[in-house]
Amino acid sequence: NAASKPPPSPSPLRNSKFFQSNMRILITGGAGFIGSHLVDRLMENEKNEVIVADNYFTGSKDNLKKWIGHPRFELIRHDVTEPLLVEVDQIYHLACPASPIFYKYNPVKTIKTNVIGTLNMLGLAKRVGARILLTSTSEVYGDPLVHPQDESYWGNVNPIGVRSCYDEGKRVAETLMFDYHRQHGIEIRIARIFNTYGPRMNIDDGRVVSNFIAQAIRGEPLTVQAPGTQTRSFCYVSDMVDGLIRLMGGEHTGPINIGNPGEFTMVELAETVKELINPEVEIAMVENTPDDPRQRKPIITKAKELLGWEPTVKLRDGLPLMEDDFRTRLGVPRKK
Ligand code: NAD
Ligand code: UDP
Ligand code: UDP
Repeated sequence: NAASKPPPSPSPLRNSKFFQSNMRILITGGAGFIGSHLVDRLMENEKNEVIVADNYFTGSKDNLKKWIGHPRFELIRHDVTEPLLVEVDQIYHLACPASPIFYKYNPVKTIKTNVIGTLNMLGLAKRVGARILLTSTSEVYGDPLVHPQDESYWGNVNPIGVRSCYDEGKRVAETLMFDYHRQHGIEIRIARIFNTYGPRMNIDDGRVVSNFIAQAIRGEPLTVQAPGTQTRSFCYVSDMVDGLIRLMGGEHTGPINIGNPGEFTMVELAETVKELINPEVEIAMVENTPDDPRQRKPIITKAKELLGWEPTVKLRDGLPLMEDDFRTRLGVPRKK
């Protein structure tokens, strides 16, 4: 009878799951900006074991140095365009360069990372029965014709432009997520992330907040790309990480916008950085790059209602936190 049957023997691969209640979490791209903050937050929970897979294209071991050697932490040099065999319960799939300079550097590789990389992580999720979260982007809305953007908007994206490797790559990644969900029953979560800023951003990665802060600290002109009336909405990284964890833990597949609805023109951003960091610095108008979206602001009703999430850090409070980190890395202390 059933009572006398021995308990099922645990699979040797997943045995730790049978004997412990630990959650094993894979973070691809975990050595990057958002990923490393996510690692910090997940490692705070003693029930989590965290595995990072990263090829260090735009990330660095330095971002994870406080965890290297920790018994619940593992770092693997791995490119997600290659298959990956690990046994995990959750996958946060972030691997992909996020800054235009880096994703345009080798556009074919960017597409491979988005398409083959996401396919591999979905194959992994299917094999081990893990839940997988994709960090998609507001760029799926392209140069939006509706403003602000909610998740039902299908976007206005140039399929053959210099940004397409990223925008269209993420759009295919979203499609793959939904097809694995419908066809194979994989548990998926999709976050559409809007511009995020904070400590550990690459200093010279060309993104606007990191550029302006580094320029203000170095006493160089703040380079506003013409016309300067284009807008973005900036989310502080701790809020972003909180949103991603809630989405992973919740019951909704998404896509869900995660971002801060506070909208600023690039001229306003430059003026704010100047006022907060270096009132002496000049603001210079420079040439823009092709296909630059003119406006971007998330509607976050879904995140509020389905995840109970909304951002808490205002731009004026987040910028000084980032300034501290940049001053340390640039070796330029605050003037007394
Ligand atoms: P990041 O460039 O700092 O981090 C990306 C990480 O992925 C890096 O550590 C990089 O080395 C790694 N990586 C890149 N290609 C890889 C590959 N083929 N194999 C393995 N690792 C690879 O960028 P981030 O700002 O932390 O962005 C993280 C995720 O969030 C990305 O998927 C990005 O598209 C998305 N996102 C970010 C923003 C933002 O404003 N930062 C906005 C929208 C979406
Ligand atoms: N894959 C992986 N790790 C796994 C399982 C699969 O990287 O643990 C990769 C696999 O190499 C394949 C992709 O995920 O390229 C899709 O896998 P799936 O099983 O869905 O498709 P198939 O292998 O049948 O093409
Ligand atoms: N931008 C700018 N000065 C810079 C870098 C960027 O004015 O030194 C502008 C850019 O034209 C765009 C906005 O800032 O309108 C955001 O650019 P970023 O590359 O940070 O992010 P994304 O375009 O991906 O939102």
